[in-house]
Amino acid sequence: MTVLVGGVGGARFLEGARERFGVTPFPEKDGPAPDGAAGDSVTAVVNVGDDAWMHGVRICPDLDTCMYTLGGGIDTERGWGHRNETWHAKEELAKYGADPDWFGLGDRDLATHLIRTQMLSSGYPLTDVTAALCNRWQPGVRLLPATDGRHETHVVVADPESTDGAKKAIHFQEWWVRYRADIETFGFAQVGGADGGGSGKALASRAAIAAIEEADVVFLAPSNPVVSIGAILSVGGVRAALRSTKARVIGVSPVIGGAPLRGMADRCLDVLGIETSAQAIGEHFGARSGNGILDGWLVSEEDAGVAIDGLPVAAVPLLMSSPQATAAMIDAGLELVGL
Ligand code: GDP
Ligand code: CA
Repeated sequence: MTVLVGGVGGARFLEGARERFGVTPFPEKDGPAPDGAAGDSVTAVVNVGDDAWMHGVRICPDLDTCMYTLGGGIDTERGWGHRNETWHAKEELAKYGADPDWFGLGDRDLATHLIRTQMLSSGYPLTDVTAALCNRWQPGVRLLPATDGRHETHVVVADPESTDGAKKAIHFQEWWVRYRADIETFGFAQVGGADGGGSGKALASRAAIAAIEEADVVFLAPSNPVVSIGAILSVGGVRAALRSTKARVIGVSPVIGGAPLRGMADRCLDVLGIETSAQAIGEHFGARSGNGILDGWLVSEEDAGVAIDGLPVAAVPLLMSSPQATAAMIDAGLELVGL
């Protein structure tokens, strides 16, 4: 099973996938399974649109949220970052007046970023860096960044400093964390490229494409449909792989009864002019029998009326209240597409 995921919603969904299909050995560490002995395994293709440089270190919020959650190290109250975190480095940086001052950089978290940055500067691709970090955390699923290139989500906003209506582009993190998405917004743009430069389009890693092409089933986690799933879909090659894979592709709605659960996904959907509803998001992804990417769409029982041309829909409980509840959701998806 391969799952496209963002951060908090994605990590929860992966807990259900691991519950359903068991712990996936880490091929980089344990070697490939012997012939014929390959059991079920879960691979996550993780959004890197939120990634950013801060204070000279590379931050990968969604990869880290997945790694810490599945590795048992997440702060469950906040939903991100380390448990038992302290903030001395952040306080010291603030005393120097260092920018950005709005980003929560924890001391324990910093160790992860330092190792990642060191490995990246030595020339290792993010895929390998992530595998090395996961050696410690043993998440029990394979975590793959969607691309080893740079693919940052930036947001075009009304410049808060301008008096004549000028626009400017800011990093998604600044829009989300500093402005809480509460600023006049015109659109999103992916910034990056294969070589880490500022132009061109990042291409999916070979491992991410193989994970989509070789899976029996692909799920879209109930992650933010715009800045998590949408950002993955805009990586070069991902959409084509979803269109052509022999796997069945199943989406799970992050919106229940017209509202996102925890978070501000509705703000992102507004920017694209998409209604915050399971109907509109399902139409946005579309049926693979048409021009879209889905073979099945899971909506919540509250949204039982959803109907989309050419796309089988099932209405089931979609609250990820426990890994078991999420595993039941996965079974409902498999049943919907006849697996
Ligand atoms: P982020 O990167 O940390 O913002 O997290 P994601 O993009 O992976 O997930 C955020 C989305 O998860 C939000 O839009 C929520 O609506 C959705 N979400 C969170 N909890 C649940 C849940 O229990 N069920 C469903 N269906 N969606 C959820
Ligand atoms: Ca995220």
